[in-house]
Amino acid sequence: MRGFPVRWPLFLSACLLAAPVSVLASEPANGSPQPRVVSGLRVTWLGHAAFEVVSPGGTRLLIDPWLKENPRTPAAWKELSRFGQEDAKPAAILVTHAHGDHAPDVPELARVSGALVVSTGEHLRAMKIPEAQQHSVNVGGSFRLGDVTVHAVPAMHSTDPGGRPLGYVVTFSDGRSLYHTGDTWLFGDMALIQELYHPDIVLLTTGGGRWGLDPKTAARAMRKYFKPSIIIPMHFGTFEPLAEEPEVRAAFAGDKRVRFLTPGQDTAL
Ligand SMILES: [Zn+2]
Repeated sequence: MRGFPVRWPLFLSACLLAAPVSVLASEPANGSPQPRVVSGLRVTWLGHAAFEVVSPGGTRLLIDPWLKENPRTPAAWKELSRFGQEDAKPAAILVTHAHGDHAPDVPELARVSGALVVSTGEHLRAMKIPEAQQHSVNVGGSFRLGDVTVHAVPAMHSTDPGGRPLGYVVTFSDGRSLYHTGDTWLFGDMALIQELYHPDIVLLTTGGGRWGLDPKTAARAMRKYFKPSIIIPMHFGTFEPLAEEPEVRAAFAGDKRVRFLTPGQDTAL
């Protein structure tokens, strides 16, 4: 073995560090096992309430993707044609409500990506989403998509047009779940969202202003109703009169579960 310098333990750990992705065999679909790529959950904040979530099995979701006019969205994410590329196409676009800081880019994103669009039937029809891409939901509804299950939950807000505002809980194959609150105040049924779905990760509206949960009340909602391991503040500092980041940090001071994401940064959770 002289002249063969590879040291396997080192080589293997370098591989594992460089590519934390494994390939498992999933259930045989047509007699032969199909490879299924499995990695960790990845979340990218795109500014304000917009997120890209990629599940451990590779199911890609966009949530409230207001991008083109969003002052917090990095330039590279404002060109919506990127979502038509094979490796960036979302499987579904989840929309919490119809307001201008959440939904205006959804019709174009649906066109370029061909993704399912998830919202109330009233909102989908108002956006003129092609029928084949409409995937209507309402409070209490759930559906399976790839390796995730999506649950529509209440939000205490308004919407026009669109029936009613929603939040979403996405559950993953590793047993964890992620709750996007949408725009809301705190409300007693948050206790039921905790009881039913026990979210591990909360994408939490915190900016308040004249429209919803201010930072202190958002922190109170987490203390009173939830037991997540990760809290990701959103919907702050985008425009006046939303609270700025220092105010949000102060409201959650000492809470080690809080993670402030940088828009555009792909974060493994
Ligand atoms: Zn909003």
